[in-house]
Amino acid sequence: MYDKMTIGVLGLQGAFSKHLAMLRNLNVNTILIRYPDELEKCDGLIFPGGESTTMCKLIDEMNIRSRIEKFDRPIFGTCAGAILLSTDAGDSRVQTFGKVPIKTRRNAWGRQLESFISDVRLSFDPEPFKAVFIRAPKLSDPEKDVKILGTLNDEIVLVQYQNIILTTFHPELTDDTRIHEYFVKLVEENK
Ligand code: GLN
Repeated sequence: MYDKMTIGVLGLQGAFSKHLAMLRNLNVNTILIRYPDELEKCDGLIFPGGESTTMCKLIDEMNIRSRIEKFDRPIFGTCAGAILLSTDAGDSRVQTFGKVPIKTRRNAWGRQLESFISDVRLSFDPEPFKAVFIRAPKLSDPEKDVKILGTLNDEIVLVQYQNIILTTFHPELTDDTRIHEYFVKLVEENK
């Protein structure tokens, strides 16, 4: 169905393999991105979860920062990926790309810091999403064009800004493909 499309998953560090598996399940061609030139082959890009400080270092070590800055196709950032795409992570070790005008705070869930599963309310589907949060950040201060697509109680956990989506949880760790499908549609529309 999606055979004309290739989605790259940044594979420098973190939870990239489950994203690849989920995309393959949806019949999307995938490519693991480790070198700057590989980005050219992608119609969309997934920034996985992991450790944003380490990922940030590796982005610079692999000389891939300026290519990501210029990448204007759809991007999906999960957890550490969302931190890196935000305007400010509140941590001087994390130089963010500022592609989405929203702030992030690393490891901000207090006593639920390590991990938890909770029902996220989606704006585009009545069925809640059982979301896995792992040392998740919190999102705050979205600018007015940032669309809030998912909430957990009063917290924003899924947003879209232009052709970029961010989740503070890990949809690739469940069997629920709805958020990846949402992203694949975004990539298709942008092609
Ligand atoms: N706590 C991690 C960070 O700050 C993010 C965790 C994750 O991606 N699951 O980068």
